[in-house]
Amino acid sequence: MDELVVSRSPHAPSDVLFEEGATSAAKVNRAADLASGSQRQWAAMPAISRERALATVAAVLEERSGELAALVVREVGKPLAEARGEVARAAAVVRFYSQQTLAANGEVFPSGSPDAMQFVVRRPVGIAGLITPWNFPVLIPLWKAAAALAYGNAVLLKPAPAASACARWLEDLVAGSLPAHLLQVLPGGAETGRAVVERSDALSFTGSTAVGSALAAHANRLGRPVQAEMGGLNASIVLPDADVEFAAGVIASAAMAYAGQKCTATRRVIVVGDPDALTEALAEQVRALPCGDPASAGTVVGPVIDDLSRQRVLDAARTEQSQGARVLAGPKPFGPGWGVTPALLDRIDASSPLLREELFGPVCVIIRAGSADEAVARTNETQYGLSAAVFTHDLDMALRLVPRLDAGMVRVNGPTTGADHHIPFGGVKRSSIGPRELGTSAAAFYTHQQTVSFGPQPWAAVDPLEEPVA
Ligand code: NAD
Repeated sequence: MDELVVSRSPHAPSDVLFEEGATSAAKVNRAADLASGSQRQWAAMPAISRERALATVAAVLEERSGELAALVVREVGKPLAEARGEVARAAAVVRFYSQQTLAANGEVFPSGSPDAMQFVVRRPVGIAGLITPWNFPVLIPLWKAAAALAYGNAVLLKPAPAASACARWLEDLVAGSLPAHLLQVLPGGAETGRAVVERSDALSFTGSTAVGSALAAHANRLGRPVQAEMGGLNASIVLPDADVEFAAGVIASAAMAYAGQKCTATRRVIVVGDPDALTEALAEQVRALPCGDPASAGTVVGPVIDDLSRQRVLDAARTEQSQGARVLAGPKPFGPGWGVTPALLDRIDASSPLLREELFGPVCVIIRAGSADEAVARTNETQYGLSAAVFTHDLDMALRLVPRLDAGMVRVNGPTTGADHHIPFGGVKRSSIGPRELGTSAAAFYTHQQTVSFGPQPWAAVDPLEEPVA
């Protein structure tokens, strides 16, 4: 029997939003054949036509943003304010890439003769295979797809099963504005994902480090370009001179909003010097975060994505407590769905898995450091390197610390979370593989460079460094 893809609301698990058989490898192949034909037409269209088509997608997305935000809330339990922000950012990213269709796409170089010319031009790779996570069910698929399309590619999108309804909604949305088969959504799990890798000219993945590393190896074996954005164990360093109340407020939200289900969420708070004031303020802020129905306007912490994820949070806190940790807040289940209040832990054991592996949920630990140097060492001691933050008034110190942090993105006096669609996004170490996403950096991944040399007849490219044949 075919694998079934089911997506249900984490707030009300009896509410099933999507139920369909997984896309078979044969169907993925058919989709890729159709995408290929459509891609050739799309790439041959005038750039201004691609600009108009993508601008229309952005406009329709904005028009229907309320409907989509409500679907995001219902399908993945993202609190309403964040869901609205995600949809607004997604429309902005599509608009940004609609404009990129008209940007310069190459460089001209000097050539051997004044009437000859050499240039490098960016060409589309063909079919971009996108494999995406459930936690940003609109923004991540669209930030990849809009870039891929802008640079002349077709898209095969394999969404996470838990975000299938949002992905299908997006496919229907673009259907009116883009050529047929240019963007196709292929619901499924691991098997569908592998079939997509097989038929992609370039693979862009976002998800866990374990899956991303395996898929990158698969794409490498096939000789295909790959980009993988993966997990993190992001640290916020609080220096002794920091404004404690401000830092605690920012960190509480960066760690726990959307139940900590962001790759950039703060998982470790590294306090330099006396930790008491910050620990107390942070515990108070975390305990005060409104938890509940994600559809209610004031909710900051909704449910986690499924029962297993909730169980992991409860088990982790119980294990740490049994080994001597102090539990300063949470975790307590709340209903009707898979809610769990955020867990803040202090004095955890040095051997704790929370210091090595990402736990994707509302769990954050406090770490004490005797000096800024030690804080840097603690920040860098994991396999990950996605984002980091430093809280201080001391500009000198901030400038010295930032270059020493193993992190693709660093904020001084800001949250580890957040992404600007016009700025490169990504990590180092086992958080990322391949070129950066977003902004104009995306061009490096979704295109290849073709070097062209030509001149009037009769013309031949003569290398002046070569000895003339006597
Ligand atoms: P996941 O790795 O379980 O799944 C990601 C995607 O891969 C899904 O579409 C899934 O169906 C697919 N997949 C899973 N196993 C596969 C296999 N064997 N072959 C092919 N495809 C397979 O991740 P998730 O639970 O959906 O998302 C949470 C993870 O994503 C966290 O680790 C989080 O840190 C990470 N994430 C990273 C970023 C980033 O930009 N760095 C952003 C968001 C989420």
